Amino acid sequence: MNIYGLTFSQLEDYLIASGEKITKAPFIFKGLYQQQINSFQELLNIRQSLKEQLQTDFSLSLPRLLQQSSGENTEKFLFALQDDSLIEAVLMRQKYGNSLCISSQVGCNMACNFCQSGRFKKVRNLQPQELVSQIIFVQKFLHVTISNIVLMGIGEPFDNYQNVMQFLEIIQHPYGLALGSNHITVSTCGLAPQIEAYATHTYHGLLAISLHAPDEQTRSRLMPINRRYPITQLMDAARFYIQQTGKKIMLEYTMLQDINDTPQQAQMLSDLIGSDAFHVNLIPYNQTQNLGFTKSSQQQIITFYDILKKNHITVTMRREFGSSVNAACGQLRADYERN
Ligand code: SF4
Repeated sequence: MNIYGLTFSQLEDYLIASGEKITKAPFIFKGLYQQQINSFQELLNIRQSLKEQLQTDFSLSLPRLLQQSSGENTEKFLFALQDDSLIEAVLMRQKYGNSLCISSQVGCNMACNFCQSGRFKKVRNLQPQELVSQIIFVQKFLHVTISNIVLMGIGEPFDNYQNVMQFLEIIQHPYGLALGSNHITVSTCGLAPQIEAYATHTYHGLLAISLHAPDEQTRSRLMPINRRYPITQLMDAARFYIQQTGKKIMLEYTMLQDINDTPQQAQMLSDLIGSDAFHVNLIPYNQTQNLGFTKSSQQQIITFYDILKKNHITVTMRREFGSSVNAACGQLRADYERN
């Protein structure tokens, strides 16, 4: 079993079951996440027999790096898991620290039709240790500290709800990576029931919703999930999250020429949001993906942005992070498999 999948309390249970003192748990967690050991022999304040038992019972294995590409402020990783499944992670160096965008599933069943990852059907969910070990790998490999985690890589995190919540518990623990809930963002394509469950979960973090259209017809065309959880239901769940957590929600909106970028749609989006508890992030479409969509022109994006501003909506335009390193979600995997 991989030890990076254990929560702190599961580690304590293991120690009790092994006849050990639970007071050893903080030393082990600190060793894993702060000291970042490569072998159980490096643990501090742990006697030799317990080190040997840990070595027998657990592995410290990390994903295998298959490919790495670097761009300005961006590093992209293609990993192979133990069963040779491929996933991706992207490190973004930002003014406020290093953010790592990680994958939550092998493939994705949500089939958003502007997304490269949606072309690979879900093979399986990632286990908590496979989520944690993406972070540990990048921190060790680049000798960096990651201060923000974004679940926005391959997969729909809320389609892997239990494992993702266990992951959040592990990375928030003060003896572990100690990441605060405002430094973790889960991005969903709109699974309304899971948004509501997340809102009241002890280990919830921030929430981003891939909205991409202000009306049911356009959104259903872009994202099949909208037929199951239409915008009205999604917005009810979003408002529930805001009310429960007091946190703002980021609405991701990829600008697609002549599909969702008209002035009328900007007005519809303003009317739909109508409150300052949302933050709209306009994303220039990454056309390297070759999926039949065209990127909106700079002028269309600016007009759209101005209308939102005029309606007092908090809005930003995302930098085209990573287009130079194939950082569009699923792109590296697609290129690798093609070759
Ligand atoms: S955008 Fe996200 S949810 Fe939609 S297909 Fe791509 S990975 Fe899946």
